[in-house]
Amino acid sequence: MLIDGTAAAAKVRAETAAGIAHLRSIGKPVHLVALLVGGTPAAELYAERQAEGCRKIGIDYTLLALPEDISNRELRQEVKRLSVDPTVTGIMLHMPLPHHIDVARVQYEIDVVKDVEGVSPANIGYVFYRRVVIAPCTAMAALELIDYAGVPVEGAEAVVVGASHIVGKPIAMMLLEKMATVSVCHIRTRDLKLHTKRADILVVAAGKAGLITADHVKPGACVIDVGINRVAQPDGTMKTVGDVAFDAVKEVAGHLTPIPGGVGPMTVAVLLRNTLRSAQILAGIA
Ligand code: NAP
Repeated sequence: MLIDGTAAAAKVRAETAAGIAHLRSIGKPVHLVALLVGGTPAAELYAERQAEGCRKIGIDYTLLALPEDISNRELRQEVKRLSVDPTVTGIMLHMPLPHHIDVARVQYEIDVVKDVEGVSPANIGYVFYRRVVIAPCTAMAALELIDYAGVPVEGAEAVVVGASHIVGKPIAMMLLEKMATVSVCHIRTRDLKLHTKRADILVVAAGKAGLITADHVKPGACVIDVGINRVAQPDGTMKTVGDVAFDAVKEVAGHLTPIPGGVGPMTVAVLLRNTLRSAQILAGIA
């Protein structure tokens, strides 16, 4: 069964839109500021689409374009300024940032409540302490889709492939919170298949196209494909694929997220819901 991330996300968006309208009605508009440093045409296009998405749902959106050669100090100052600006309820950084920028140090300056992506060290840390303030978006999206599919987590064998700070590790912690037995596989895992084959729930976030094939998957398992990879096709065009060999794995898995239409739209919906939550906390109603 395919997990329809677009349909699941629509439900989250609708609930979020209602909350945003309520805040506006009481004179507390939701205002997200996104920082774009340097920026390729693709990044600008993405930012423009995001602006449209925010406006549609009632969020005031400001794109702050900063020069490619901005110093670490200047960027941190900018983030600090926004963190204390009472007219700003949410802050996010468009990735990738230029190589000279220390991303973690910039994220550290985002006010915990205004960190709508949930990626500051503080928000990631709160996940470990079961006191989520703003949840890391992609990790939360993976969990939402497992829930949407109706797959029980408590007592399940869950395997996460990929151990990054903002995706793999928080997913593992959130599954642990829900009482799954969790294994985390990474680049040095000796026998990936040995682990993935045991998984009732398999979440893949490695950024390696086709890493998971049918023989990595236990029949009937719930497979959440977080990966996004651009691969060249024989005709020279580019295609976006996940980390899971979709056509083969769909014959084995019980539930599977497609690409596009899986984790991606849910991540965007969770970002919008987080943006609402930030504003609600600041308004004292969450
Ligand atoms: P990342 O920082 O590159 O982390 C990838 C993780 O996977 C690292 O722990 C890496 O280990 C591990 N890994 C790489 N190759 C592996 C292999 N062959 N076997 C096992 N583990 C392996 O990436 P990320 O930010 O976590 O993102 C992961 C993927 O999700 C990317 O494709 C990204 O584009 C995608 N993503 C999607 C969404 C969405 O909305 N759908 C949002 C965010 C990210 P090492 O560090 O040791 O190499």
